[in-house]
Amino acid sequence: ALGAWQRQLRAQFPILRGADAPVYLDSAATAQKPQAVLDAVHTYLVTANANAGRGIYTWANRTTELVERTRERVKSFLDDPDPARSTVHFTSGTSEGLRTIARDWLTEHLRDGDEIIVPFADHQANAQPWLEAQRLLTARGVRITVHDMPYEAESKDYDQAALAGLVTDQTRFVAATHVHHIYGNDMNVHRIRDVVGPDVPICLDAAQSVGHLPVSTTDLDVDFVAFSGHKAMALPGTGAVWARGARGPAFTPGGWSGSPNTAGILSMEAAFDWLEAAGLENIDRWSVALGVRLTDGLARLDSYEVLGCPLSLTADSDVQRRQGIVTFRHRDIGSSDLGFILAEHGLMVRADGHCQARGGETDSSVRVSLHLYNTPDEIDRLLDVLATLDRRNGARA
Ligand code: PMP
Repeated sequence: ALGAWQRQLRAQFPILRGADAPVYLDSAATAQKPQAVLDAVHTYLVTANANAGRGIYTWANRTTELVERTRERVKSFLDDPDPARSTVHFTSGTSEGLRTIARDWLTEHLRDGDEIIVPFADHQANAQPWLEAQRLLTARGVRITVHDMPYEAESKDYDQAALAGLVTDQTRFVAATHVHHIYGNDMNVHRIRDVVGPDVPICLDAAQSVGHLPVSTTDLDVDFVAFSGHKAMALPGTGAVWARGARGPAFTPGGWSGSPNTAGILSMEAAFDWLEAAGLENIDRWSVALGVRLTDGLARLDSYEVLGCPLSLTADSDVQRRQGIVTFRHRDIGSSDLGFILAEHGLMVRADGHCQARGGETDSSVRVSLHLYNTPDEIDRLLDVLATLDRRNGARA
């Protein structure tokens, strides 16, 4: 049943049309755009293009209306418990979102002796801003302690017990990642609230979850969410920060800093409408199934090692928590070489480093990241090429 659903949706991506279309396997970097998003942008640019927030004439008013409508759409897409009091600030992506939270909220609210807990082994976008905030505060004579968010070695999830051991009366902020951009695991962030108690603000990097699965700020009970619109099928250079209204000090980012990316902003409304109509649960199920197909295929070869907890080896309930991101390494062939070989076969993957704040084992690997437009055939094409490079089939490095 999902097959027919998927074919109908894939057909809506112009860039993927044609029998000789390459295989796009880098959706964790940015997602492809359905026709509905392109149409919304086109319609806007040919009927109402103007600057936002300053007009007295029709096009400017229409632009402002679309921007404000998108702000409300971000709230509903994130299942906001209190949309009347929350804030949405538009950014160019998750990195700028997290930097904005660090600069405009954290540095304003921390006091001498305060402590924060942040994830240094995740994407660098969720590490550097907090260190930058610490530097700014230190320069003002405010000393804070920055703790590394602890991980379980096996599952790569956050270690709840170790986290509990870090929380003190001075803990003022916890930053976490919803879905890891290399291992593809849901980091169990819904458990963080129980560990840190009701009063510590939790900030979520949702770059790899928004647009892939339902993200509910109500269920997750978080205070800040930063995400990338462009990874959720909106235009390049889009994203937002959502900040809850009901608890904690208000978040007041710098307002319009220059002219906003109006077409990009409203493309998020179109993308969210499209994704919800397609069905986020099914999108999630589809990508995870493709990830399992790839992981199972790799397990039948000798030369490949999958990083993190392999999808198909986790318990059934855990398979549901894992996303369509599979990162692996060839035991003899370097990852950039492998990336080039795959590119020659029309297979577009991410190779080598992955912007991890603290590299290590992931530094040289190949990442395949999937979305609803990918197909089982594409996974098999990839596995066919990988098999020709396998020791079992006589390949030599
Ligand atoms: N956080 C995570 C987990 C990511 O995967 C990414 C993108 N690779 C980012 C942050 C940065 O997103 P952007 O490039 O949109 O700023």
